[in-house]
Amino acid sequence: MAGRLLSIGECMVELMQAEGDLLRKGYAGDTFNTAYYARLFLPQDWSVDYLTAVGTDTVSNEMLAFIEKTGVGTGHIRRVEGRSPGLYMIHLKDGERSFSYWRSVSAAKTLADDADHLRAAIEASDILVFSGITLAILAPPAVETLLSELRRAKAAGKLVVFDPNIRPRLWDDKRYMLETISAGARASSLVMPSFDDEATHFGDSDIAATIARYRGLGIDKIVVKDGPSGVTLSFDGGASQFVASAKVDKIIDTTSAGDSFNGAFLARYAVDGDPVAAAGFAAATAASVIQHHGALVARDKLPTA
Ligand code: ADP
Repeated sequence: MAGRLLSIGECMVELMQAEGDLLRKGYAGDTFNTAYYARLFLPQDWSVDYLTAVGTDTVSNEMLAFIEKTGVGTGHIRRVEGRSPGLYMIHLKDGERSFSYWRSVSAAKTLADDADHLRAAIEASDILVFSGITLAILAPPAVETLLSELRRAKAAGKLVVFDPNIRPRLWDDKRYMLETISAGARASSLVMPSFDDEATHFGDSDIAATIARYRGLGIDKIVVKDGPSGVTLSFDGGASQFVASAKVDKIIDTTSAGDSFNGAFLARYAVDGDPVAAAGFAAATAASVIQHHGALVARDKLPTA
């Protein structure tokens, strides 16, 4: 059955240390990474699109060309005169990574400013994907515009997928952060949180507490990721099910573990509706991703079944 997936958020320019003082340029961002993996694994009769806003400058053009090359559609990406994409730099010192960000005036902050555009893109899609980072970069009125469109989509029976991806440094105020993440979840039909973030910020004592909290917010499809240990699924009122992570002997780079899990999970779940099988495939994919450098690992290095 053909369908359309739309992922909504911010893709940034990534500068990574290369030889000496040289920097290598790439493009990444949680919701784009998820779209990338969904595109790799969905059948060709599905479309995968990205919704963000970029500028009209050269680096915006290059980013769109890059996105298109991955097979992810750019037809819903708005152009905003006078803005540019956000940028981050990865510093590598003795194997440890640290990050610097320049994103406070990024074009993506305007992604929900045109409500008609947003509504048309969401109406044209079957699966919607967004994250706590998508919400963190938006001003409160833009958060409300986006969430009201997503609530409509949920009410219309579409699969609205939310990864809380809690990043406190992107939020000025902790209480507002927790309220907005909860509002994002309420607008969704499937949430895919990481347990360590939820425990740290919401104070959940165990995975059952995370599931109970999201069920209490009216979400009946929940996938709680817990790193190397595995994921716990709670779907449509049934008993919780556990799917173990794949064993990894040597981790190279954990960037995009959760994003690749989400993309691979959605690609499988969209086609056959079996969350346990989808989680097994997603765990195998994420395990491969963390054994390679970078957020976007090539298809030939990933599992096929
Ligand atoms: P995030 O990167 O969003 O914090 P997690 O750390 O929970 O998310 O990881 C997401 C998924 O990646 C896990 O559900 C698991 O499948 C896989 N994963 C992460 N770390 C490991 C690991 N050390 N060994 C095997 N799989 C892992």
